[in-house]
Amino acid sequence: MSGSEREESKNFELLHAVAKRLVSHLEDVFARRVPTVRLEGPNGLYEVFEKHGVPLPLDLDEQKPLDNEKLLESLECLIKYSVQTSHYGFLNQLYSKVDPISLAGEWISTCLNTNCHTFEVAPVFTLIEKEILAKVASIIGPNYNEHEGLFVPGGSVSNLYAMLLARHRIDPESSKRGMCGGPILVAFASDQAHYSYLKNSVTMGIGTSNMIKVKSSASGAMDPVDLERAILKAKEEGKVPFFVGATAGSTVLGAFDPYVKISDVCTKHGLWFHIDGCWGGSLLFSEKTRSVLKGAELSNSFAWNPHKMVGTALQSSVFITRHKGVLEALNAQRAKYLFQKDKNYTEYDTGDMTIQCGRKTDMFKLWYQWKGLGDAGIAKRVEHSVELANHLASKIKASNGSFVLALPPSCTNVVFFFVPKSMRPFDANNFTKEQFEAIDKVAPKIKSEMQHRGEALIGFQQVKHFPNCFRAVFANSSHVSKDDVDGFLETIELIGNGQN
Ligand SMILES: *Cc1c(COP(=O)(O)O)cnc(C)c1O
Repeated sequence: MSGSEREESKNFELLHAVAKRLVSHLEDVFARRVPTVRLEGPNGLYEVFEKHGVPLPLDLDEQKPLDNEKLLESLECLIKYSVQTSHYGFLNQLYSKVDPISLAGEWISTCLNTNCHTFEVAPVFTLIEKEILAKVASIIGPNYNEHEGLFVPGGSVSNLYAMLLARHRIDPESSKRGMCGGPILVAFASDQAHYSYLKNSVTMGIGTSNMIKVKSSASGAMDPVDLERAILKAKEEGKVPFFVGATAGSTVLGAFDPYVKISDVCTKHGLWFHIDGCWGGSLLFSEKTRSVLKGAELSNSFAWNPHKMVGTALQSSVFITRHKGVLEALNAQRAKYLFQKDKNYTEYDTGDMTIQCGRKTDMFKLWYQWKGLGDAGIAKRVEHSVELANHLASKIKASNGSFVLALPPSCTNVVFFFVPKSMRPFDANNFTKEQFEAIDKVAPKIKSEMQHRGEALIGFQQVKHFPNCFRAVFANSSHVSKDDVDGFLETIELIGNGQN
């Protein structure tokens, strides 16, 4: 064997060992043989890696090459101190158990290591992306028969694409001129919308003061009357309204905006109507749940994160618009080294539709998963999460005051309080300042205790006028049962009453 052959054979040994170890780790997580989290602070983590059987400092100071044994040891430390988002106790954010077929898809994509910018280097991935977009379009509705879109690095970037297209439609000169000397553009989203709209307004140079927060109803849905009022106000001030960012399944409350009414306002005033369905867009995929998205097909563009409720491996985000040709018109710079027009099949190239150059082949894992589960499997997954949320809410209602809903559940978001015995009764519709302050401290304390025990991760926050409340979200919950949900409540109650 030559030196380089020996090197490669060592690398393949590592790959075999890592693959085997990762599969067995996932089996452990799915079988609940490991905790959700082993809580350790930054200093503790440095120490853990340094004092591990084979010391493996996290820093890269004067790094000498390590052999496979040490590389594998570091994997053990990483696994042990990482949060197990595929664990049934992880109800913290809007992603959870990785779908195993999509994980295989992710590994396949990574193994083939190509970029989705030209057909030449990503022929199959390019076609698969087109097929997924066609499927998603058909699910949104007939308005989307004509469409185009992209897999993009995250929902925030999906929303950015929508805002960029909207700006290009109203002020195409801005691409060349820049933001100086043009109209003052104003965008609108509800006070419950994702904060990426604000970040995007910074990125685009529009400014957060021109990203207007529209009022929302008690349940968190955009108020279309306040939207129109805000549009008229901006016009009176000589500004140019151009974009409304609605939400399907708001991040915290799971609210769905009134799309038909918003569409009417947008049509009347000539604004681009985008729906951020990153979270709740998945409810379109079951006949049983899709009615909450009534009117979604009226939008100009739509964002959906399959890596949330559908459980596709992070990261998988779809941006789709029903206007063909707009992405190239916005973004194409026609780099001569990449998009030679006299190359084979360049009409299939997607690279100049994007704000990137290379792009990860994120479409494949969703396609693979969809092939493996079928339409019915995807629908069932969404239905199960909705059922769990409803089950949790009904348990809370039946709890005789130890738990109180802040609001009725929406999407798969359940926002609720635990009320320690000494603080009962607590009425979410009518509470004093003292009660606010007392209840506000409860959820953070219980969460911290659950983290220390490694039992579960359930998010909390203040929302609207409420003190801190738990926010349980059921993303991909194929591995969570109603009994598990009951168990979470029992644990919260035991910790909260200081009995355990
Ligand atoms: C999660 C989320 C986003 C952001 O998605 P990323 O992929 O994390 O960028 C945007 N909008 C909503 C409603 C979300 O829930």
